[in-house]
Amino acid sequence: MSTVVIVGGGPAGLTAAAALAPSVDVLVLEREAETGGTPRHSDHPGYGLRDLRRFLSGPEYARRLTGRARRAGAALETSATVTGWAGDRALEVTSPRGRRVVTADAVVLATGARERPRSARLIPGDRPDGVYTTGQLQNLVHGHRRPVGRRAVVIGAELVSWSAVLTLRAAGCATVLMVSSYARPEIFASVGPAVSGVPVRARSRVVAIHGRGRVTSVDVEDLRTGERRRVPCDTVVTTGDWIPDHEIARLGGVELDPATRGPRVDTALATSVPGVFAVGNVLHPVDTADVAALDGRHVAPAVLAHLRGAGVVPIGAVPAGASRAGASRAGVSHAGVELRVEAPLRWVAPQLVRPGGPAPARDRLLLASDVHRAFPRLEAVQDGRRVGVVRVPWPAAPGRVFRVPFGLVADADPTGGPVTLAYQN
Ligand SMILES: Cc1cc2nc3c(=O)[nH]c(=O)nc-3n(C[C@H](O)[C@H](O)[C@H](O)COP(=O)(O)OP(=O)(O)OC[C@H]3O[C@@H](n4cnc5c(N)ncnc54)[C@H](O)[C@@H]3O)c2cc1C
Repeated sequence: MSTVVIVGGGPAGLTAAAALAPSVDVLVLEREAETGGTPRHSDHPGYGLRDLRRFLSGPEYARRLTGRARRAGAALETSATVTGWAGDRALEVTSPRGRRVVTADAVVLATGARERPRSARLIPGDRPDGVYTTGQLQNLVHGHRRPVGRRAVVIGAELVSWSAVLTLRAAGCATVLMVSSYARPEIFASVGPAVSGVPVRARSRVVAIHGRGRVTSVDVEDLRTGERRRVPCDTVVTTGDWIPDHEIARLGGVELDPATRGPRVDTALATSVPGVFAVGNVLHPVDTADVAALDGRHVAPAVLAHLRGAGVVPIGAVPAGASRAGASRAGVSHAGVELRVEAPLRWVAPQLVRPGGPAPARDRLLLASDVHRAFPRLEAVQDGRRVGVVRVPWPAAPGRVFRVPFGLVADADPTGGPVTLAYQN
């Protein structure tokens, strides 16, 4: 029987495992001591709506997805980190049991995304204790039951930032200020009631962290006036600012999208390397867990088609008789139509639509926006011709993935140039 190795045992990897295991041998390699991914540490409700039709806490969601993958027959190996490649679809694995090479007929990358820590954000000042990402904070509070502090400043005001506020509250730490560089909090007021009373300073940024040993204060700058104010606090949480965990993809020679910085994929979630697929937040940093999980379900038919030797053409493949140089000069991929975005849209995923390929997961294109739009209209333009327009009845906002119907690009010419997606208003 064919073997599929899935790197990462979060919602996307576990759901792919549950979908594939009835048909093929599946091994999930997870570097943490338990499977479940990020939701394991996120002990509040909000998980599982679209995939399980349930409203669950993160840990309960992680348990259910683990159970489903296991019952479907997948082998789940924990404390097993994939550190590199030993050849095509051959992975180097390090675990307490030693180092080994695992060979597969197909590989699914489900390594997720992480928040950029303080060091990568280049915030000047001292280097005291008490500065965390949301992930580190939740690990500390829910994973290790450790105290945090009494007064916190949260950098960011997107969905995950509010999750940090709830975790701080559960740990007995008040959030005295949230700081957002945008004109208003990144997400609309939908989460307001859950965390009302937390002041948010918009159009501002933290320009220094002070403290010897432990944080004592931060300096917050108003981006319009340049005025700075010192805010006493003993805890700082840097939230959002996601970067896909793309190291394994990069080491495997998988082409990365310069905008998402995750693997570039087509609508079947195939990468540029034959037999290597990618799912979840490594592709779209970051959407909700159920959307990541549904990528895992969506990828299964393409993986099985690859194993049967049927028709998944890797991204960038040039058919016999066509010249790769000629194709790239013209900005045309003969394997499909490339999707691009115009600012203030930041990225789109997937990035390639191939003739005869499936619609993307949930029939949606995923986009990131750097601005708020209440009910945006978008257009798709190919070779100077408008090929689609859509007005969506939901908002776009920074810090939150914005989904649009795939129909927007359905009329693109499969032999034409790239399609650019842009706001119309
Ligand atoms: C604080 C916070 C709150 C959130 N709240 C919600 C919410 O309320 N509702 C919601 O739907 N979503 C929420 N999310 C988002 C949700 O957690 C993600 O959408 C989801 O976890 C993405 O799933 P994934 O499988 O793509 O990645 P992940 O869950 O990140 O899983 C990736 C897995 O890959 C493993 N891995 C990575 N590299 C390797 C390697 N080299 N070898 C082996 N294993 C590896 C990691 O250890 C990890 O377990 C929240 C996220 C955060 C951070």
